[in-house]
Amino acid sequence: MAVWPKDPDPGALQAHFAPTDPDPRREITRTPWVRRVIKSRAFQFLLILPNQIIFWIVITAGLFGVAAPTRNFSTVITWYIWFCAVFLLMVGIGRAWCAMCPFGGFAEWIQRRTFWRRNPTSMTLGRRWSQKLSRYGLLPSVLLFIILTYFEEYFNIAGPGVPRYTSYLVLSVITIALISFLVLERRSFCRYLCPLSALIGTVGATGMVTGFRTRNRSVCLECKTKDCMRGSEKGYPCPWFEWPGSATSNLMCGLCSECFKSCPSDNIGLYVQKPLTSVIRPLRRRWDVAVAVILLMGLVVFQQLNALPVYATVDNWLNAVTHYPGYPNPIDYIIAIATVAGIVVGYVLLIKKGFADHEKEHDSTLSQWLTPVGYGLIPLVAADYLARQLPRFFDHMLRIVPALSDPFDVGWNLFGTAKSPLYGVHLLSTAGVVRSQSIVIAVGALASIYATWHISRRDFGSLTKRVSAVQFAGVLLSALIGVAMVWLYVAMAGAE
Ligand code: SF4
Ligand code: SF4
Ligand code: SF4
Repeated sequence: MAVWPKDPDPGALQAHFAPTDPDPRREITRTPWVRRVIKSRAFQFLLILPNQIIFWIVITAGLFGVAAPTRNFSTVITWYIWFCAVFLLMVGIGRAWCAMCPFGGFAEWIQRRTFWRRNPTSMTLGRRWSQKLSRYGLLPSVLLFIILTYFEEYFNIAGPGVPRYTSYLVLSVITIALISFLVLERRSFCRYLCPLSALIGTVGATGMVTGFRTRNRSVCLECKTKDCMRGSEKGYPCPWFEWPGSATSNLMCGLCSECFKSCPSDNIGLYVQKPLTSVIRPLRRRWDVAVAVILLMGLVVFQQLNALPVYATVDNWLNAVTHYPGYPNPIDYIIAIATVAGIVVGYVLLIKKGFADHEKEHDSTLSQWLTPVGYGLIPLVAADYLARQLPRFFDHMLRIVPALSDPFDVGWNLFGTAKSPLYGVHLLSTAGVVRSQSIVIAVGALASIYATWHISRRDFGSLTKRVSAVQFAGVLLSALIGVAMVWLYVAMAGAE
């Protein structure tokens, strides 16, 4: 995996691992009852179980419940509430969803042949993920997310459309996860393939939880057993292939707590951190994360563009020319995403070239410029995904009240709310929705400006002219994209 800075200077490493060994006052696991709960082997099972139950209800309700998507429990909870809730979890806590995820959870129960015990053998072929492909890090996950979103748009699944399509979507992800868990070792699926992994990992970097971290790195350096990575009778080897002793961001910690259970030196804890810490402070930045962020931005901007009337005209014209049967035409889908990504890359190239010509410094690579700028855009991309969910959330989230009373459309009235008038209540007016979207984007843009400013200083330290150039490039880019996104939301007028 190519990383930047390629060769962090030893002073910076020391500064990270010595004085910045996590602050014990910020340790969540310092509280005795929290420690006891997380040390328990049943901890993750109990996190996953409620979501597992809800997801199987979602699948059943989608297949057999009421046909109207605005009344079906499956579509109402998935598209009006769940997606928004997962985003808030990501922005607030990082990979919290991964700790309770029913997709990975279900497949892992089968792979381990147990709900929570430490079983010495697993039911998997245990194949390694390709070394060659691992160089591309999160990119397969982004690619699969783009493909999945295409099918979601094509079948209007999140519209919401026909409820059984939501069930098919959930069942497909569970099936693919299960096959991957039975073929590949540990959570290779989560690390490399899950369509949600890149989005959760990158957006989650804004979150206030560090992931499980070593308390004192010198203890880890002396440690002979490395049980956190290799496993012991108390815990599984890290399912995400991480070493808590070297983690400098929460990007790849699935918060499963296995290392916390297995470390023989009790040298691991869970910490809170300031928002954006995992965006600004990673010692080794990954180019694949930056590229993933830029592609994810292209995708969400496409989802804004496709709500404008002009998009329908272009899409219909393309469909007529190419004899393609439905919306969206894959050509404009791909072109829209590639154009947004291309504009960002082209802009960074221009700044780099201008700087190199001016400073007569021609040895820097595109990746060295693109990577910090990509990391700086994380908060803005997170804000845009959240803002895109808000119309559905504010307009329809109360539809869950009647849907809860009769999830399978069999005439139940479990909570006496089957005919609740809340069904038609919108929490915000259209103007209110647009205002809330604009505020979310403004906060995201300011956070991106702040992050880029600090990333440049942190990554380029003594190269003062390059610090200024990247600061200028990143700050201007965040501001321009933020303005463009707000403009699009105003033009969309609260469209879902
Ligand atoms: S990476 Fe995907 S499958 Fe794995 S835990 Fe996270 S959301 Fe679930
Ligand atoms: S087992 Fe504990 S002490 Fe050893 S390397 Fe892992 S976290 Fe560090
Ligand atoms: S074992 Fe530890 S480092 Fe690995 S994913 Fe679980 S909590 Fe994170």
